Formats: sequence, C-alpha cells, structure tokens
Amino acid sequence: MSVHVIGAGLAGLAAACQLTELGHDVVVFEAAPHAGGRARSYFDKQLGCRIDNGNHLLLSGNISALSYLHRVGARRSLLGPAEPIFPFRDARTGERWTLRLNQGSFPWWVLARARRVPGTLVYQYLALRNLKHAKPDDTVARLFGGSGNLYSKLLKPLAISALNTMPEEASATALQAVFAETIERGGYATLPRWARIGLSEAFIDPAIDWLRAHGAEIHFSERVTALQPGQATVIATPPWVAAELLPGLTVPTEFESICNIHFKYQMPPGEAGFWGITSGISEWVFARPEVISVTISAANRYLDIAPDDMVRRVWAELVKLFELEADIPPHRVLWERRATLRTTPAQMALRPNTRTSIPNVVLAGDWTNTGLPATIEGAIRSGNAAAMALMKPNGKSL
Ligand SMILES: Cc1cc2nc3c(=O)[nH]c(=O)nc-3n(C[C@H](O)[C@H](O)[C@H](O)COP(=O)(O)OP(=O)(O)OC[C@H]3O[C@@H](n4cnc5c(N)ncnc54)[C@H](O)[C@@H]3O)c2cc1C
Repeated sequence: MSVHVIGAGLAGLAAACQLTELGHDVVVFEAAPHAGGRARSYFDKQLGCRIDNGNHLLLSGNISALSYLHRVGARRSLLGPAEPIFPFRDARTGERWTLRLNQGSFPWWVLARARRVPGTLVYQYLALRNLKHAKPDDTVARLFGGSGNLYSKLLKPLAISALNTMPEEASATALQAVFAETIERGGYATLPRWARIGLSEAFIDPAIDWLRAHGAEIHFSERVTALQPGQATVIATPPWVAAELLPGLTVPTEFESICNIHFKYQMPPGEAGFWGITSGISEWVFARPEVISVTISAANRYLDIAPDDMVRRVWAELVKLFELEADIPPHRVLWERRATLRTTPAQMALRPNTRTSIPNVVLAGDWTNTGLPATIEGAIRSGNAAAMALMKPNGKSL
C-alpha cells in the first residue's frame, strides 16, 4: 500500500518507520526544509556551537521512545545518570537536596529521609495514591491541596515540566498517566535521559537515514494544503493544520510556551548533569559540554517580560545558585510560543482519536488522544498508533 505522511516531526517519523517496516511504500511531506518539528538541533552562529531548540528530558519508562531509537539504530544516543536521581536547588533559600529513588518497584526510598523531599514525612507520600482516583476535571493543585513541601518541591515542578501547565490548571489524570509509566513502576523506569549530542543526532537524523535506507521517500519544503482523495494518509501536523486539512475536526485550541536560554558557559555537570530549580524562574538547568541550558516551562506567565530582562533574571539566579561569574555570557533565547497544548482538563477533552471520519486518513501528533501529555513519548506512540490504525481500517478507534 502507498501511504502519505504529512509532517516529519516525531509523530510523523514514528508512523513512517512503522509503516515502512511493515512493507508499505511511504512518502513523507514536510513543510520545513528540515525534519524534527518541535524537537530539533541546529548550529547557532552567535554561540559557535550546536544547540537544541529546547532541552528535552525523557525517563527510562518512555518505552515507545526507546523502541523507536532502537529501531533506527540510535539507542546509544541518550545520556543520563546510572541511578534515578534528581538534584534540586531552591532559588529563594539556596537549599539543596537530591531525590534518590531506588531501582526496584517497591518505593522504599520514601522511608529514607536523605532520599526524599526535605521537610516531608513518610505518611505524606500516601497522598500520591490520590492520583489513581483523579477524575477528568481534577487539577493537580486541587487534588493535592496546593501547599506543603511535597507539593511545592515535587508535585509542582513535576506538573510544570511533564504537563507544561501550571498545577492550578493542569489535568491530574495526565499527571497520573506519567506516574503510572515511570515513578509507579520504580526507579528503573524513572532514570532521567536526554540527547547525548543533540535532539537531531538522536531522534531525527538516524530516522531519516533509516527511512531512506529502507526505501521511503522524504520531501522537504513541501507544505501540503489539501488531502488527495482516496490516498491513505497520516496527518502528523500541528493541530491547527490538521483542522484545515480536515474541516470539522475538533482539536485543542490553547497552547503553552516553553522558554529555553542557552548560555555559552562551561560548568561541571555535578553527579547528574542537570538540576531542578524550585521557587525561581528557571525550572531545569542542564550543564552541557559547551553551554548551560535553562528550561522555563509553562512560560506563558512570563510573556510580558522582555527576553533581555528574562536573561538578566535567569543569569542572576544561576550566579547565586551555582556561584558563577556575574558577567552574562553570550546567550540565545529560544521561546517556543506553541510548545505544547495546555494540559488542562478542558483541552484534554478536545484531543481527537487516531481515526477520522475518512477511513484511510488517520491522525498522529502529541496533541491527539494518547492519554499522555504532549511529550516525545506521546508523539511517538501516536505515530505508531496511526500506522496500526491504517493497517486495521475497521478496527476500534484509540
Ligand atoms: C522547547 C520544547 C521543550 C520540550 N521539552 C520536552 C521534554 O523535555 N520532554 C518531552 O518528552 N517532550 C518535550 N517537548 C515536546 C516534544 O517536543 C513534542 O511533544 C514533540 O516534538 C511533538 O512532535 P509531533 O510530531 O507531534 O509535532 P511537531 O514536532 O510539531 O511536528 C509537526 C510537523 O509537521 C510539519 N508541518 C506543519 N504543517 C505542515 C504541512 N501543511 N505540510 C507538511 N508538513 C507540515 C511541521 O513543520 C512539523 O515538522 C518539548 C517541546 C518544546 C517545543
């Protein structure tokens, strides 16, 4: 069968790989001159090095992402500590701690004071079970009361980074979906991972090479504006493009931004290579070989701050937290305005299923109804699901 895939982000690439492996003739159309969509690397002339459009953190429980890397021969392209550790620093008090999960599935780490969140008691972790009973309209803050050390030092940073939405608005069921596949399964599913060299080197370039080596066609700078009648197609574009291609399709309509600031500065990686930051503007800090990269998720709340001001504030935070030189080094601000959908209960309800009203046209993308938040894992899983749905035209919808 001949299949067209529209969009060469991770969802489109995953669908293309799956379909190619199943022996279909795949043609990928990508509007940009390069693949990767919201997960890509490029050479930044001002900084004189390659950077990612944004730091992307995965966990070892992201099995679809890991299988995808395995398929395209890039399973060694991720990096991260051997243990499930998450070092944190608080921007207001300077307090430092490291969350140290244990490898197995029984969470005995909560019993050891030095491993858990400072200022928390063992019994308070029982509240995490509330997630299992979350209802579709529950928010993270409402479910956990929105105060206390467990909330402010663990649940809030997790919700902001995994859901890219402030916990007062973020869907608790979406957080549960992440918990169920990582923390609940134990430390071995919660090892932090990121691209060793860059996102393109890990997730994109190997997939393009693999697809071409297996006979798929890839056309760059080809924006698709209409579907070809009768043609089996995977629409793997952003939601607003999918709604243009398929009038009447219901899609999420609200988005959150993510701001990444890359500073040309070398800093020792510490025991994990990254830190979570609480009570500040920065959310995650990565010590990469040539740059310090700072991620600020759910960044719509900062949209009225000028980028230069943001740089000043973030650098001042880093100087204080990591004892760096006061002069601001060369830097690049990358502010992705529509980084992900807003993971609110209302927006979650607008996510469409894989199948559409046209039998041989299916949807893929992190914004479809994957059950997961808009992440690499969700995007890849949606691509796999789209490929399988085309294989079973009369099957049940996801
Ligand atoms: C700054 C940032 C940080 C992030 N951090 C993380 C993280 O830490 N962990 C994590 O798991 N996820 C993270 N994400 C989310 C992750 O990047 C996305 O979930 C994933 O890349 C989405 O892939 P996709 O294929 O669904 O969509 P996209 O990447 O948006 O791909 C859609 C593709 O369709 C193409 N296209 C659009 N219109 C047309 C057309 N008419 N014809 C042809 N092609 C078209 C686009 O050019 C694009 O390449 C982050 C995202 C951003 C932006």
